[in-house]
Amino acid sequence: MSEIKVLFVTSEIAPLIKTGGLADVSGALPPALRALNIDVRVLVPGYPQVMKQMGPAEVVATFPDFPGFPASRLIFSIMKSGVPLLVLDCPALYRRDGGPYMDPVTGHDWTDNPIRFGLLSKIASVLGSDESPLSWHPDLVHGNDWQTGLTGVYLSVATGAVPNIITIHNLAFQGNFRPKKVELLNLPPESFNVNGIELYGNMSFLKAGLYYAYHITTVSPNYAREIQGDELGFGLQGLLRSRSSDITGILNGIDTDEWNPETDPYLSDHFSAGRMAGKAQNKQALQSRMGLEVNSDVPLLGVVSRLTHQKGLDLLLEIAPRLLELPVQLVILGSGEASMQKIARDLAQENPGKIAAMIGFDEGLSHQIEAGIDLFVMPSRFEPCGLNQFYSQRYGTPPIVHNTGGLADSVVDCNADTLREGTASGFVFSGMTADNLFATIQRAIEVYRDERKWKALRKNCMTKDFTWETSARAYREVYLKVLGRTV
Ligand code: ADP
Repeated sequence: MSEIKVLFVTSEIAPLIKTGGLADVSGALPPALRALNIDVRVLVPGYPQVMKQMGPAEVVATFPDFPGFPASRLIFSIMKSGVPLLVLDCPALYRRDGGPYMDPVTGHDWTDNPIRFGLLSKIASVLGSDESPLSWHPDLVHGNDWQTGLTGVYLSVATGAVPNIITIHNLAFQGNFRPKKVELLNLPPESFNVNGIELYGNMSFLKAGLYYAYHITTVSPNYAREIQGDELGFGLQGLLRSRSSDITGILNGIDTDEWNPETDPYLSDHFSAGRMAGKAQNKQALQSRMGLEVNSDVPLLGVVSRLTHQKGLDLLLEIAPRLLELPVQLVILGSGEASMQKIARDLAQENPGKIAAMIGFDEGLSHQIEAGIDLFVMPSRFEPCGLNQFYSQRYGTPPIVHNTGGLADSVVDCNADTLREGTASGFVFSGMTADNLFATIQRAIEVYRDERKWKALRKNCMTKDFTWETSARAYREVYLKVLGRTV
């Protein structure tokens, strides 16, 4: 018998539908929880990508047209990972070409997003209350991000409601809409209040989620603190501060099978902490593929990222002229803001052999970059958790990161003390300026030139534990706490 039953609600899940880190967490955390004997089932909208790939399926419930929503049904299937999936099939809302949030024709968000994710929240609340038509009843509903934010509001007026928690993957996305949507969504009128779902005159899905949840988690302990401050609270810092004792930061894990330098199918040569020759081969292969001078001695810096203000790569592009005076090479893989793409492309064109840029999304190349470069550059302005700093360390590539969010929680700055203790795993800079980034790159290159220190640093990186098991145990503690059971 499982100790706890959890309904995990998400708007994306890898490998079925993915726009970002939320999908990775939704794909990896539930199996890790199941390994701890927690009976997790995942509720996800029936987008075409999900309907097509979900495998053998069975309709387990049909729902009437709840006020404000079209009729829908629930389809049961099982993920390859073994996790039971409850697909919310509502053709009028989810079965359309394009992304889960955006209309590809207009480039804008789907105008009915409040109804689309209102229904997801509504059905989550039905399954977590006496209204549920299923024989399986969760002890707790675990929502993620603004798309599940109304779950707690609906549960607050349901009979037999179980507790709910919400995980914030990025506070910058809030699902804020005009107040008239409150009526359309059949929410209790009194919920449209500053002590409720109202945020500066609008209704906010995320604020609703944060206000009504029994407990709030976010994807790193440091980000959990930062979002309670004015700089990174995105207007919700007051509410978050008032709920401080109900917030827990839990660092994400990574898929250590997909990101394994000993077996990675994208790599020309494999390597491990005890056998680093293969990494040198990958450097050579990458230099050759990207048109850089093939030279094992020159430090090779790399970036894999969305090219946006959040990621802070404008600083790196700003110091490019100074970098060019050093014996270094730089490879950039990314896409995003047009101006940043242009600067990266121009830099590569003007400095052949020294700088290479690939604008676009390329999974295989991202693995080859992590394996082939010496130092990964990730100067994010804010970063709830981040993934590439984990991949870098696992591939023996110390990351250079800004002291923020999950980066600060997962990279230990290299200095005499941390080298002696055996914890150093990268280079961390505070103060988001081009000069600070440049000085830190110089500091990293000095360590690169010191063979003894460099070897020790890379070994530390490659022997760290980034599996999901540790995170899953922390979520289990939160569940038990919310359910009032002893940990
Ligand atoms: P965010 O979710 O904010 O974009 P994360 O670091 O949490 O940042 O995760 C981004 C993921 O997307 C990582 O796995 C990263 O390697 C991948 N990624 C980003 N841009 C590219 C790209 N251009 N090509 C391949 N993978 C990319």
